[in-house]
Amino acid sequence: MKNLLKNFLIFFVVFILIASLFSLYGNGKSKPEKIGLETFIKQINNEEVSQIVVRGNKLEITLKDGKQEVVKKEGGQTLIEMLTDLGVNQDKITNINIEVKEDEGVSFWLGILLPFLLPFILVGTFIYFMIKSVQGANTRAMMFGKSQAKEFRGDTKNKVTFKDVAGAKEAKEELKEVVEFLKNPKKFTNLGARIPKGVLLLGSPGTGKTLLARAVAGEADVPFFHISGSEFVEMFVGVGASRVRDLFKKAKKNAPSIIFIDEIDAVGRRRGAGLGGSHDEREQTLNQILVEMDGFDPHTNVIVMAATNRPDVLDPALLRPGRFDRQVVLENPDIKDREEILKVHARQKPLAKDVSLRRIAERTPGFSGADLANVLNEGALLAARKNKKLIEMEDLFEAIEKVMLGPERKSRIITPKEKKITAYHEAGHAIVAHFLPHTDPVQKVSIIARGQAGGYTLKVPTEDRRLHSKTEFIEEISVLLGGYLAEKEVFNEVTTGATSDLRRATNLARRLVTDYGMSDKLGPRTFGEKEEIIFLGREIHEQRDYSEKVAELIDEEVSNFINISKEKALQILKNKRKVLEEVVKSLLEKETLEKEDFEKIVGSKPKNKDEQKSEKDKKEN
Ligand code: ADP
Ligand code: MG
Ligand code: ZN
Repeated sequence: MKNLLKNFLIFFVVFILIASLFSLYGNGKSKPEKIGLETFIKQINNEEVSQIVVRGNKLEITLKDGKQEVVKKEGGQTLIEMLTDLGVNQDKITNINIEVKEDEGVSFWLGILLPFLLPFILVGTFIYFMIKSVQGANTRAMMFGKSQAKEFRGDTKNKVTFKDVAGAKEAKEELKEVVEFLKNPKKFTNLGARIPKGVLLLGSPGTGKTLLARAVAGEADVPFFHISGSEFVEMFVGVGASRVRDLFKKAKKNAPSIIFIDEIDAVGRRRGAGLGGSHDEREQTLNQILVEMDGFDPHTNVIVMAATNRPDVLDPALLRPGRFDRQVVLENPDIKDREEILKVHARQKPLAKDVSLRRIAERTPGFSGADLANVLNEGALLAARKNKKLIEMEDLFEAIEKVMLGPERKSRIITPKEKKITAYHEAGHAIVAHFLPHTDPVQKVSIIARGQAGGYTLKVPTEDRRLHSKTEFIEEISVLLGGYLAEKEVFNEVTTGATSDLRRATNLARRLVTDYGMSDKLGPRTFGEKEEIIFLGREIHEQRDYSEKVAELIDEEVSNFINISKEKALQILKNKRKVLEEVVKSLLEKETLEKEDFEKIVGSKPKNKDEQKSEKDKKEN
């Protein structure tokens, strides 16, 4: 409709232009006088005429004194014939300069007809465009079954290559091989190797799956068809399957080529698991993908790549050999990779001399590649806001917290009483975290609201670790309860501020029992089969695979863990009450305590046995 309006407007403007041109043309020359034949003959006989231009039946006369006149003559007669008939002397005629010109008919008729025709032309054009746009919609409807896959070739302007992907070494190796397959298939087939058909990229959001796939496209220099899983799923049944067919047809025609299906879990969910209306459609689409992949003969040089962050919900059939038999796992980067990723994204950003990307990497365990890119971007924005020319370390530290916890909400008004409660709450977390032996050191305590939280205590692990012990979990729960317990100790009352702490503590305690087998009473087994049921959006449904009696036991054990943690935290809060008060005082004054300020009050973090031992070992060696 927008287009239609645009076309109409253009037409309208052109019309106005033409119309004004015509009127200019008309006014520009003074109109020649119309005269009768008699006057004309008289003028010839008086030798007043210097020139006659014949245009069809119109005679344009120029008199010797420059005056212009127009005379109509009868059709079917030449000028000379007419003049002789009217008895004009031959000598008088020869003295006149006579010119015969093309009939001015076109512009003449146009001049007459245009005023009448214009409305018709206008309406006609309008209807024409109308019909055309309707037809367009129709053909678009017919195109539904066509895949909307975007093809991009290596030579696009913002081409991504493996250089733009930091870290992820194994994944890159694996994919380099895929690129090799496409460039040089003989090398592999000569040795009898079967070229993989499908490569599945697995990893949590932001780990760089899409980025890596685009890098493959950039490196491989072959047509690369990119489509997102959700694009298969439309309102109309059967569209998905036909899109898949079309996509594969295109890819085969352009072989060697790569198909990339992003977010494949949108269609590749375990079949038969859904209750939602569209799952039939999804199944058909998935089936079609499987059929197409099986249909490749080994010499078709097409590789299918797919990405998902939910491998657990994928249909097992997708993972069978001969389909997505290569699986590349992307994980959140470790400290070295984090530094590399930061370097990649710092390329076009002016950093101040004091910036150490290594220190940023240290402070960002658990961040994904996307988070890190975001940190640098937020840092740049913060620096710009302060009118700086360079991005400084403080901007980046601030950015880390912003990415982690949401923006600061300094303007939120809280009463002095609320402020005091928040201070005790956060100091409670911080003190418990500080004095327990297996927790991460406190990096920052603040009572400035951020995102959802009224205040926050930031702990940062000293190293990347994958395994966590029961002791660590118990202490973690103690820290979570620290805020709640401090409030209770001091005010003999608790507030709603602890809700999310309590929920997290409870969830963690529950996982200890049901997932990690850390309860002695219940033993080394897991409880509950997690299954996803898609119904009205997403919902994780837990199926109970244990009896009512065991359920009671689980509840007991969860409470037990929480109690143990609570006692630990309470003990610290009671023993260190004085220090707590000092931290609170300082918090109320400064609102934010950095690690150094905090440790000035509470002393440095006591070392646990493992740390003491490893230090002793170091000294002995
Ligand atoms: P996913 O598809 O896994 O959810 P993306 O590939 O979309 O994640 O990554 C989002 C952004 O994060 C990328 O555009 C890139 O800026 C950044 N990023 C993620 N991983 C890396 C990496 N290894 N190296 C450089 N940048 C990365
Ligand atoms: Mg992605
Ligand atoms: Zn809290």
